[in-house]
Amino acid sequence: MASPEPEQVFQVDETPDETVVSKLAAKDSNKAGNDEQGEEVVNILELGIDPTSTETGATDPDNKTKDGNEEENTENLVVKKDRKKKKKARPARPQVDPSKVPERPPPQTGTVFNIWYNKWSGGDREDKYISQTKAEGRCNIAKDSGYTKADNIPGSYFCLFFARGLCPNGKNCNYLHRLPTVTDIFNPNVDCFGRDKRSDYRDDMGGVGSFMRQNRTIYVGRISVSDDIEEVVARHFAEWGDIERIRVLNSRGVGFVTYVNEANAQFAKEAMAHQSLDHNEVLNVRWATVDPNPLAKAREQRKLEEQAAEAVRRMLPPDFLEQLSAGALQPAKKRKM
Ligand SMILES: [Zn+2]
Repeated sequence: MASPEPEQVFQVDETPDETVVSKLAAKDSNKAGNDEQGEEVVNILELGIDPTSTETGATDPDNKTKDGNEEENTENLVVKKDRKKKKKARPARPQVDPSKVPERPPPQTGTVFNIWYNKWSGGDREDKYISQTKAEGRCNIAKDSGYTKADNIPGSYFCLFFARGLCPNGKNCNYLHRLPTVTDIFNPNVDCFGRDKRSDYRDDMGGVGSFMRQNRTIYVGRISVSDDIEEVVARHFAEWGDIERIRVLNSRGVGFVTYVNEANAQFAKEAMAHQSLDHNEVLNVRWATVDPNPLAKAREQRKLEEQAAEAVRRMLPPDFLEQLSAGALQPAKKRKM
C-alpha cells in the first residue's frame, strides 16, 4: 500500500497572510481552541493516532520563540504552511465511535461473505424485516466528509459505510468519504462503491443494478404524504448530488429522483435506504425501471450522448478544441447557403 502523503494531494489555496494568521492564533489561544474543537474530537476518536501530532499545542510555543529570530522564521513558516494546508483539507471524521464497533464481520446481509470486500453478497437485502426497520445511521455530508487514505490512490471507490452513515474509520478509511462528482468515472461493470453490477436487475429493482443500462434515476416509495411532499423530497435528496429532475406522485407517496451523474444516484440509493424524511416513514428505495414514455426515452438517450461527448471533450487539449469548433462552423455555414 502506498504511504499517504496528504499535503501533496490536498493543496488548497493559501491564506493571503500566513504570518498574521499564525500570530493571531498564538495570541488568542481560546479562539484557536474553538477552531480546533472539531478536529480534537476526531483525533481522540481515532485509533492509533497521536492527538498531539497535528494539534496547536505543538505549534503555539514554536511561534512565540520564532518572532525574535528572522532567519529561522522563514523555514518554520514553510512548515507552518504545510500544517495549514492539512487543516484546510479536512480529515474525514468517524461517523460512529470505533470503540463501539466489535471486530467481527458485518451483520449477515447476504448469502456469501466476500473477504475481499469484507461484506456479504447474494441473497436479498430487502427482506421483510429489514425493509420495515429504520437505517441505523445517516450520512451527514457537511459534517462527515473529508479526506481519507483513499484520496491518495487514484481509482479509489466510495465508502459504502460512509454513505450509510456508519463508517468508524474516519481518515484511516481505505475508501472515499465524500460525494461523487462528474470527474469520478468508474468502469461500467462496477458501481461507485466497487461492487459488481449484474447483467439484469433484481426482480425487486434493489441491489447494485445492471451494467446493461446507465441508470441515474432512483425510485422512492413509502414517502409520508403531506402537502409539501415535493419540497420535502427535493430537500432530502439534494444532499447527495446535483438533481436533474424529480417527479412525485403526491397521492401515492412515491417519487422518482434523477441525478445528473450515475454515481450520485448510486450513492443516494445507499444513503437514503430505510431513512425517514420529515416524518417517521421508512423509505423504500430502488432503481427506477425504464420510463416507457417515448419522450422520456428520447430525453435519456440525448442526455447519455451529451455526457459521452462531454467526456471526450474533457480529454482533448483546449487548442485542438478551438480548431475543431472553428473548423466545424465553416462547413455548416456553407451548407446553409
Ligand atoms: Zn469508510
